[in-house]
Amino acid sequence: MKLAIASGKGGTGKTTVSAALASVWPRKRIAMDLDVEAPNLHLFLKPEITGRRKALIEVPKIDLDKCTYCGECAKICQFKAISVMGEIILTFPEMCHGCGGCFDICPEDAVRADDRELGEILWGWAGDIEFLMGRLRIGEAMSPPLMRDVKAHYDEMISSEPEDVIIDCPPGVSCPAVNAVMDSDVIFLVTEPTPFGVYDLKLAHEAFAPMGKPMGVVVNRAGLGDDSLYDYCREKDLAILSEIPYSRRIAEAYSNGRLITDVADDYRTQFINLARKAMKMAGEAAVPEVTERA
Ligand code: SF4
Ligand code: SF4
Repeated sequence: MKLAIASGKGGTGKTTVSAALASVWPRKRIAMDLDVEAPNLHLFLKPEITGRRKALIEVPKIDLDKCTYCGECAKICQFKAISVMGEIILTFPEMCHGCGGCFDICPEDAVRADDRELGEILWGWAGDIEFLMGRLRIGEAMSPPLMRDVKAHYDEMISSEPEDVIIDCPPGVSCPAVNAVMDSDVIFLVTEPTPFGVYDLKLAHEAFAPMGKPMGVVVNRAGLGDDSLYDYCREKDLAILSEIPYSRRIAEAYSNGRLITDVADDYRTQFINLARKAMKMAGEAAVPEVTERA
């Protein structure tokens, strides 16, 4: 199964929840960091990186000897990455999403491929957790093509043996966030009970609900703020799956890059139950029993 851990805004504890869930997940799993603009899942899981490669995107380079300036490539490009003005053709590689449309449509075969580096993809192991992440190059603005490449790498990893994946998604509700949750079986929305938290939860809920996937809420820093988060969830029939208390011990663990599940056995049990809820939400009839730490 694919579990997306998302949030309407940054700083809610999305990565903390992703790492904690990965640490107790009762089956083979990949912890995948798709928050490629600011990946930090590795700070908690501390994987040994065993491989890395550059992520490249093919962008158009025009062969001026063949181009007739017909403008078809500019017309098909939804991202305004090509512009034709009379007998001048300009390409803007940094705006290209790599859809391939201009390559296919050119009647003169005048569009050649040039590589642009988006960032890198890294993989490895954190104990028995397989780890995968993308990291956008500094100055690069185009995260969806890199996320696509990370997902393709994941597909390769599971081609021989299926594995669950816990996806640490980008925050917010823009293109990268939607891209990250769209293939998942279940979405967890991590939020906090503050006015900002409720506002951004609403945005995320409204953005992802049309996908029709099972969705539930994990409340971080429970005990802060007021009841408006709980009122909203009740009104929208949105299940609150787990509440992580507002606690100094958890804050200290977070600031030291430690897992919540290592803070106390109670938290470990809480996340084991959360993992089981995710499997039930995905429609699994037989959820594996979990051996608690002695
Ligand atoms: S579609 Fe081909 S021929 Fe037409 S403007 Fe673009 S590159 Fe030139
Ligand atoms: S590959 Fe797609 S996004 Fe890139 S320039 Fe061509 S049409 Fe535009």
